Amino acid sequence: MSDGKQIWVLVEVLAGAVKPVSLEALHAGTTLAGELGAAVTAVVCTAPGVAVPEAVATNGASRVLHIQHAALEAFNSLALIEALAPQIQAQNPEVVMMGATNHGKELAPALAAKLGVGLATDCIALDVEGGVLKARRPVYAGKAHITFQFGDTRPCILTLRPNVFRSGETPAGKTVPVEPVTAEIAGNGLRLKVKEVVQAAGRKLDITEARIIVSGGMGMQKPENFSLLEELAEVLGAAVGASRPVVDNGWREYSNQVGQTGRTVSPDLYIACGISGAVQHLAGMSSSRCIVAINKDPNAPIFDVADYGIVGDVLEILPVMTAEFKKVLHK
Ligand SMILES: Cc1cc2nc3c(=O)[nH]c(=O)nc-3n(C[C@H](O)[C@H](O)[C@H](O)COP(=O)(O)OP(=O)(O)OC[C@H]3O[C@@H](n4cnc5c(N)ncnc54)[C@H](O)[C@@H]3O)c2cc1C
Repeated sequence: MSDGKQIWVLVEVLAGAVKPVSLEALHAGTTLAGELGAAVTAVVCTAPGVAVPEAVATNGASRVLHIQHAALEAFNSLALIEALAPQIQAQNPEVVMMGATNHGKELAPALAAKLGVGLATDCIALDVEGGVLKARRPVYAGKAHITFQFGDTRPCILTLRPNVFRSGETPAGKTVPVEPVTAEIAGNGLRLKVKEVVQAAGRKLDITEARIIVSGGMGMQKPENFSLLEELAEVLGAAVGASRPVVDNGWREYSNQVGQTGRTVSPDLYIACGISGAVQHLAGMSSSRCIVAINKDPNAPIFDVADYGIVGDVLEILPVMTAEFKKVLHK
């Protein structure tokens, strides 16, 4: 166990692989550790017998804590809290951070409430000023940013927006030791038990993790036309997103929905096809690095946030784009 200041990064492992957002959190943790004079502990919670992926031990952490218990086989926030809270209380990390994934969004507030400490969710920037940690996140559907400063309680709990804290550097590759810990969880006392996990059929790339998203709105006109988006997505290695009315109409599943009541995404490239650009949609995608909009209405509000705009019929433009990208990318 480390005696100095620690930053804990809770790492999500799915089907033997580290979630990209957890690698981003390790990168953010390492940067913060330099500014706070702390060291990073990567924390992986699994059932016994599950191996910790090598990437956890080679991405900037100085130690890896592998907390194990049979109740941690599937995601269960109550079991995780039972496993984590005593370790946090015993080891006093300054900061506990994790991705703002579905799991992180459920675990972080419950953990903060259990420990009676402060929480900043969906952070897009972390700074240290005069030794004090400040966390920035969007508010009012992305129209403004707020900066949090934590009080005296520790740890500060943070969730990080996926795709924001990416590292351009290849990790040093130094492998640090994994410390196994057996959690004590009163199995019969848990109020929540996971009986079965059912994987969604034909699951594609998660839009929150995709570097490129091609997203369709009501301008796609009918569900069959989404095949044009699927074809472009295939060529670009992208995920397909959708506006809310598209999802409400049952043309696409809810996990595709981008916006205030859907998912928040920050890809490198967001191609909005037949999407008007309502404020509730912008809330979910305006932090994309480059936005391309295709709309037949030159006054559509989406053009106010777009870096590149194409005025025209999306059903004519998409096949041309797909063919051109195929040529350029040799697909
Ligand atoms: C509380 C609340 C929460 C909401 N949450 C969300 C949310 O999470 N996500 C979300 O997306 N919305 C959300 N909405 C709905 C939002 O207000 C808009 O109604 C919605 O985003 C509009 O979707 P759209 O752009 O696909 O459709 P429309 O507004 O109907 O726009 C269609 C666009 O397609 C263009 N178009 C039509 N035909 C073509 C063509 N052939 N070629 C090119 N362009 C064409 C039109 O010019 C138009 O700009 C929410 C609303 C409320 C009140």
